[in-house]
Amino acid sequence: MASTLADRLSRLVKTMRGQARITEDNVQEMLREVRMALLEADVALPVVRDFIQRVKDKALGQEVVGSLTPGQALVGLVHKELAATMGEGVADLNLATQPPAVILMAGLQGAGKTTTTAKLAKHLIEKRKKKVLTVSGDVYRPAAIEQLKTVTAQAGAEWFPSTPDQKPLDIARAAIDHARRHYFDVLLVDTAGRLAIDEVLMAEIQALHAELKPVETLFVVDAMQGQDAINTAKAFKAALPLTGVVLTKLDGDSRGGAALSVRAITGVPIKFAGVSEKIDGLEAFDGERHAGRVLG
Ligand code: GDP
Repeated sequence: MASTLADRLSRLVKTMRGQARITEDNVQEMLREVRMALLEADVALPVVRDFIQRVKDKALGQEVVGSLTPGQALVGLVHKELAATMGEGVADLNLATQPPAVILMAGLQGAGKTTTTAKLAKHLIEKRKKKVLTVSGDVYRPAAIEQLKTVTAQAGAEWFPSTPDQKPLDIARAAIDHARRHYFDVLLVDTAGRLAIDEVLMAEIQALHAELKPVETLFVVDAMQGQDAINTAKAFKAALPLTGVVLTKLDGDSRGGAALSVRAITGVPIKFAGVSEKIDGLEAFDGERHAGRVLG
């Protein structure tokens, strides 16, 4: 078990004892420890570099240099900056549009899109008193359509049927038409994912986006993906005007550094965290709390 950043910094500061005050060199040395902690938490290297640079600029102000407890001061500063970067406060779903508000789910296969679709349906029904319809555009995997049907029933929402012989765009049109005619407030659209970035599939989800004009386009990403999350996030960011992120599988044993990478790459808020396989395993993402986990 690696020691915590706070432990490491306090050890380091002990070796500086006897010096009249903390110097710029000492801060550099402490920042190396911070860098290591972030890399161990699987934050992507370019994101770590940017982050360290920002912390360094602040640390060289009076906050750390000259402090009586520089280790603590630096940990506090890093924690604050991490929380601010990952987003403070809660960003719920934006439904401010003519109903039905369409929410498009994007992400790789296995990221947790279908599960999250049902979790969001439940959230919208219970917390926001909405009438919710789900539909699957995953015509490549009949099992995925069935899976959505099952979890939608668990969520207490309605499911719009689709079949593998249909085109995703036709499914989308039919679903939105049904949602309009039956006064649904929200239409959640689950989409096909692949195990890796795939241009054909990206083109397909772009076409779906153009057709559906969703008020939310959520990028669903697995927190256990670690360093790989950066490439996935880049590809989805380039393909779609994302409005939010759902970080799944935070109940796993990763330190969750993907949160920082994904937030930095996409530039949109992480709105929710998936914390179990169960339908109620969804929480509003809390950057402040998550910062503690990333630092270890
Ligand atoms: P999709 O291919 O993106 O639709 O992914 P699925 O929704 O089918 O999820 C893939 C796997 O991840 C399933 O076994 C889910 O139960 C699991 N899963 C999804 N979200 C979470 C989560 O937040 N925590 C845990 N532990 N498992 C999750």
